[in-house]
Amino acid sequence: MRSNYHNKRRSSFTSKRSGTGRKKSSGFTRSRKCKRKRIGSYEAFRMRSKIRLAIGCTVTAAVLLCGFVFLPGLFGGKDDQMSFHPVESTGEIQDTWEQTTSLEETPKDEELCLNIRQRSEWNLVLVNPKVELPESYLSSSQIVTAFEMEMDSRIEKPYTQMYKAAVKDGISLWISSCYRSKELQKELYEREIEENVKSGMSQEEATAAADVAVARPGYSEHNTGLAIDFNGVTMDFENTKAFQWLQENAADYGFVLRFPKGKESITHIMYEPWHYRYVGVEHAQKMKELDMCLEEYLYYLQEKGE
Ligand SMILES: [Zn+2]
Repeated sequence: MRSNYHNKRRSSFTSKRSGTGRKKSSGFTRSRKCKRKRIGSYEAFRMRSKIRLAIGCTVTAAVLLCGFVFLPGLFGGKDDQMSFHPVESTGEIQDTWEQTTSLEETPKDEELCLNIRQRSEWNLVLVNPKVELPESYLSSSQIVTAFEMEMDSRIEKPYTQMYKAAVKDGISLWISSCYRSKELQKELYEREIEENVKSGMSQEEATAAADVAVARPGYSEHNTGLAIDFNGVTMDFENTKAFQWLQENAADYGFVLRFPKGKESITHIMYEPWHYRYVGVEHAQKMKELDMCLEEYLYYLQEKGE
């Protein structure tokens, strides 16, 4: 599609340029010939005529070229800009374009992540590898045991309702992990580093590897008691009926897929089909409708002044 558009532009450019040139030169020559009879020197006239013809053609070509260069910018879209690299559609130019797009995306995500303010609503609390769970959050929450798991007392009812609805539809859901205290998180994190060191890594390498695999204490959403890992925590979960059911229905009970595919540069967490987070029905439905992860949604609310 890109190359068709581009070929069209190139051919119209070529025919326009040659057509204009021919027309101009013949008209110009005729009028100068008449003048020559009046002033004499035919050779001198031919020379001047050639020079002026050359200048005329150069100016025409330059004007057309400028139009061709700047016109695509008027459309603004990436496709237009990309279809404009005419002859240069070599690997080199393609690479430059690829780099440009990724460079465009990174500062935008970076800006979004750096500028999200923590909100006062408990159900919209933000925790990710760059944002620590506020101490004040834990002092205001209450952890209870339900479904043989510890969770924030405020999600017990919505989760129970969702669970019952799933069972009614023949879907089997079970919780693999829910609330984790900061102390437990610390143990998991330190154990990971220890195991990495045992496997031959330096302390620095071991810590870096642990940072990727396990959240630091206070930086895991499980520390809130609002996150639930389902059905064994495996990638295969995305191919199950349970996952499909959650995709369709979880928002109606206030839960969202917290780390969706394609949003990794914003969430800083790999795609996790098993990890759901309670945000409340109204927000969950809006996030689903807007196809936004929590970071994007919080930024969206902030920009709207809500
Ligand atoms: Zn999880």
